[in-house]
Amino acid sequence: MEKAHKILADKAVRITPMRQLLLDYYLQNSGAFGLMELESAFPKSDRITIYRTLKTFEEKAIVHGINSGAGEVKYALCDEHCTSIDHIDQHPHFQCEQCKQITCIDNVIIPNMNLPEGYVSKKMNMMISGICPNCSG
Ligand SMILES: [Zn+2]
Ligand SMILES: [Zn+2]
Ligand SMILES: [Zn+2]
Repeated sequence: MEKAHKILADKAVRITPMRQLLLDYYLQNSGAFGLMELESAFPKSDRITIYRTLKTFEEKAIVHGINSGAGEVKYALCDEHCTSIDHIDQHPHFQCEQCKQITCIDNVIIPNMNLPEGYVSKKMNMMISGICPNCSG
């Protein structure tokens, strides 16, 4: 089975042309993309449809949102073990200061922090900024 089809089937998401298109794009271009980038990648698609597709993907644990701090939320593919109840993407994100590309640092787990008593942590965001391998060469 084609990879996009398999992911959609695994996450119990009905296949539509837009979902297939968007997922294929993510599979072919690794990285995080915001609505604006996806709009320019699919000039013939309606932005509302792209937006709704992203939201569906986020609900169904196909992508996770990353707050880049610049106002725009970017989305990157989820780990295959993510579920709609529990996104397990507790990895740091790296933003390159030069090309602005955001990358998931998948193999690193954010360490647990010792919070003062009474604080229950639910989610942690870690954004690292610096220079990516493409720009440092
Ligand atoms: Zn996830
Ligand atoms: Zn870079
Ligand atoms: Zn990520």
